[in-house]
Amino acid sequence: MTARTWIRSPLAVLTPGEDARGGIVVEGGRIIELLADGAEPATPCEEVVDAREHVVIPGLINTHHHFYQTLTRAWGPVASVELFPWLTNLYPVWARLTPRDLELATTVALAELLLSGCTTAADHHYLFPGGLDDAIDVQVSVARRLGMRAHLTRGSMSLGQDDGGLPPQSVVQAADTILADSRRLVETYHERGEGAQIQVALAPCSPFSVTREIMRDSAVLAEELDVRLHTHLAETLDEEDFCLQMFGMRTVDYLESVGWLGDRAWLAHGIHFDDGEIARLGAAGTAVAHCPTSNMRLASGTCRVLELEEAGVPVGIGVDGSASNDSSNMIEEVRQALYIQRLRYGAAAVTPEQALGWATRGSARALGREDLGEIAVGKQADLALFRLDGLRFSGSHDPLSALLLCGADAADRVMVAGQWRVVDGAIPGLDVEALVAEHSTAARRMVAEV
Ligand SMILES: [Zn+2]
Repeated sequence: MTARTWIRSPLAVLTPGEDARGGIVVEGGRIIELLADGAEPATPCEEVVDAREHVVIPGLINTHHHFYQTLTRAWGPVASVELFPWLTNLYPVWARLTPRDLELATTVALAELLLSGCTTAADHHYLFPGGLDDAIDVQVSVARRLGMRAHLTRGSMSLGQDDGGLPPQSVVQAADTILADSRRLVETYHERGEGAQIQVALAPCSPFSVTREIMRDSAVLAEELDVRLHTHLAETLDEEDFCLQMFGMRTVDYLESVGWLGDRAWLAHGIHFDDGEIARLGAAGTAVAHCPTSNMRLASGTCRVLELEEAGVPVGIGVDGSASNDSSNMIEEVRQALYIQRLRYGAAAVTPEQALGWATRGSARALGREDLGEIAVGKQADLALFRLDGLRFSGSHDPLSALLLCGADAADRVMVAGQWRVVDGAIPGLDVEALVAEHSTAARRMVAEV
């Protein structure tokens, strides 16, 4: 392991309010020094990386995904439908998922994220068909192999069609099974404190696929184990109608009624809130994972990001599952967020730096991480370095703006906890060609003769 690394004289670096033109010094997995223009490290560094052609930003943090869905990208029958029919068509396909499929899908998703500048990824895995009891265990091993930070959530579905829910009975689980496995996973894998690589959260899937009881019991268990809570909420108007009919209340009232309206929870999508609901979420400190591509793809609506932030809601960015994006490219997702939010609020209201802030500081807050999301002394050394020498950047001027406006899609180097995990645009030791071949075969088998 290199003792000290100096990322020297970057072309541009995202450190709002601080001069770091001389570069960043990393030691022991943390950032120990930011250097002003022309300054040198206090002590010599064993590794010096010349960053004169790199734009350096904090490692991007993905707050919502479903890795397994990389096996059902761009599947014809759901290419052009909205959420509920999209789900009911996909449930029987997803029910075929095997441990090896999930291992391949997780590797594909994490590799794609890493290569696009992402250093920490949350996943929401709620599918446990027979034989896939160890789904989260499989994901932990892949994240460790790639050296990424992962916030893996033990998802669940417990409200099947027989009881008025959306998913078929074949993919729902009993409450006891869900809660026992949640406890096991937290006790086995959840790391606490600064620099944690693997964290586990509890994540009942959505109002229309879990019972009120599993929502309430998950909140109680999360409190006892001191871990975070995650779910989908206010994604579509169909969901709002479902809540009114099934529970006799709107989504945020439902959230509050099951003990979730607090700063332990982060919600995927968070689109259909009224002004009063936004104020309540802000006062509670409940976070939102904004997933712009998925929201456009399924025509779900537009998250009210600036109003949520104004109210005090931490807002992060998520690529969402690969069956509704259908890529896992994190830097492209930031561009999508920038543009959809401009469409809502106006061009002057949202800057590229602000959008990058959602995917870094905002996402870190949504995941409850104070040690991530910023290039600052004492923070974890999670960094993404982009080159601007490709055709798409030719003629560009401001480097930080160019990253989003010209549409960067691949990092040149990525560091996680002080270790280089992407070098020259590739993941050392990962055979991408073999991965794509086996993953594609698995994907074809999943949709065969559904
Ligand atoms: Zn989702």
